[in-house]
Order: sequence, then structure tokens, then C-alpha cells
Amino acid sequence: MGQKGKEIVGVNLDELIDRLNKALADEWLAYYQYWIGARVVKGAMRQAVVAELEEHANDELKHAGMIVDRILQLDGKPILKPEDWYKLTNCGYDAPEDSSVKTALEQNIKGEQCAIDVYSKLVDFTKEKDVITYNMVVGILQDEIEHEDDLQTLLEDIEKK
Ligand code: FE
Ligand code: FE
Ligand code: MG
Repeated sequence: MGQKGKEIVGVNLDELIDRLNKALADEWLAYYQYWIGARVVKGAMRQAVVAELEEHANDELKHAGMIVDRILQLDGKPILKPEDWYKLTNCGYDAPEDSSVKTALEQNIKGEQCAIDVYSKLVDFTKEKDVITYNMVVGILQDEIEHEDDLQTLLEDIEKK
């Protein structure tokens, strides 16, 4: 990274990169959970649910890309092996074994709630110390809050039927 660009980062760089890699692991697992979920779910309002899951999968993949770009900018090393996703994840992975729409929504809501927690902590960690990472994590947090809301709204609609 440019020397000056790194100098203005007021948090411990190793800790920041570790936290970003943990969030990167979460994003890949969330991506796959949505992506495979969109293909296997069955039940009420399937089409609406599939569309939402696919949209969220794309968002999680975009988040992963943003995080890797920032890690590289900080001269950090992003996760290179999928096996490290499981070692580093905060939020884990819930396989959509029971392919019901309702279970998949509940599993993904749980994942979003964990993501909201992770990114709020990253917002606190970088606030007034690393404006570039701060802006990025605020943007991701906004998306995760929207994801949780979209899924909860769908679940309520299904439960009202
Ligand atoms: Fe995400
Ligand atoms: Fe999300
Ligand atoms: Mg959505």
C-alpha cells in the first residue's frame, strides 16, 4: 500500500486484517448458503424467495470482493484456501438440509443477524480511526440490515398465508 495511505490508519493493522479476513470467511459462506439455497428450496412463495436469495447471494459476493480489495490495499494477505473459511468464520454455515422455504429463511435470518453484529463491531473498531474501512463497513452493514428486513418480511408473508 502507499505509505501515506497506511500511515493514516489509526488502528492495529494486524488486528484489522484479521477481522477483515474473518468477515471475508463469513461472506463466502453466506454467499454459498444463499446460492445453494436458491436452488434447493421448495414451498410457499418459492419464486419470490428464490429471487431474494439470489439477490442476496450476489450482494455477499460483492462484499467479499470489497473486503479482499481493502485487505490487499492494507498489504494484508486475504484467505487463499476455502478450508480457512471454516476456521475463521464468525457466523458459521447452516446447510439448507431441510429444503423448506421457511427453514431456509430462518437460517438466513440468523446469518444476517450475526453479520449485523460483526459489522457493527467493525464500525465501532474503525470509527474515527480508519475512514476508508469505516465507510466500507458502514455500507456493508446497511446491506445486511436490508437483507434481514427483506427475509423477515417474506417470512411474515408466508406465515400469514
Ligand atoms: Fe454480506
Ligand atoms: Fe447479508
Ligand atoms: Mg433483498
